[in-house]
Amino acid sequence: MSFEHGLKPSDILTNQQLMDKFKCAMSGGMRFSHRTNTLVLISDHTKSLYDDRWIGDVFHYTGMGKVGDQSLDYGQNKRLNQSNHTDVTVYLFEVFKQNNYVFLGQVYLSNHPYTEEQLDDNQKLRLVWVFPLSLRNNHNEILIPIEFFESREKIQEKEAIKMPQEQLTKRALSAPKKPGSRTVVTKTYERDIYVSEFAKARANGVCQLCEKPAPFHTKKGDPYLETHHIEWLSKGGEDTIENTVALCPNCHRKMHSLNAKKDVEKLRRVAARS
Ligand SMILES: [Zn+2]
Ligand SMILES: [Zn+2]
Repeated sequence: MSFEHGLKPSDILTNQQLMDKFKCAMSGGMRFSHRTNTLVLISDHTKSLYDDRWIGDVFHYTGMGKVGDQSLDYGQNKRLNQSNHTDVTVYLFEVFKQNNYVFLGQVYLSNHPYTEEQLDDNQKLRLVWVFPLSLRNNHNEILIPIEFFESREKIQEKEAIKMPQEQLTKRALSAPKKPGSRTVVTKTYERDIYVSEFAKARANGVCQLCEKPAPFHTKKGDPYLETHHIEWLSKGGEDTIENTVALCPNCHRKMHSLNAKKDVEKLRRVAARS
């Protein structure tokens, strides 16, 4: 009898729940369980050691072995390589945010594993084995919240900033040339166009934060400004003229990056003055 996991694609588990369900070990990227006869593959993007990625609907999964050249005869690499000819079922999870294991579904080896160069734990280039995996279920069923990508980017940014220049260069040069892609879910807010146009007209071509003229004009000849909600819509702010201002792109970025109290207060005063 095959193993019943009861999961749907996009379900999110903690590490503990994953261990309980699959009866596997608590760590490692490739976890085999004798009890459920499953091999759980985990692609943890919060640890940037492996350059796992989707190309079309094939997931290119890097095998195990943190230092030196990887081997196809080693541990779970061997098991995965033979999995199409055994009765082991293979499942894939991705991690974008610590302790959030996103279930993708059952996978199978859809092409021959191949080698490529990637940096190891000691920042040395070595050969890794990459396994092309396809899902048994529909790839488009998997919806990943956009916040997950953003939190992964933050984690990777922090790591990259700490890297010595030489390592950063190595990594940049060894980055996969074909970026992966995938479908994400994002929540979008319907903004009222009249509120937005009112705010721009009120600003009259001048940024309401730095008070400089718009940096350029649109093709139609209007000064280019962007509307911004002082209290962000995503934080419950209202789409009203009292909460909307027109900013130059620089100041708009600044508000989303810093949202400094002093600037927020200034914008509140300006918007109240209409
Ligand atoms: Zn400005
Ligand atoms: Zn904004």
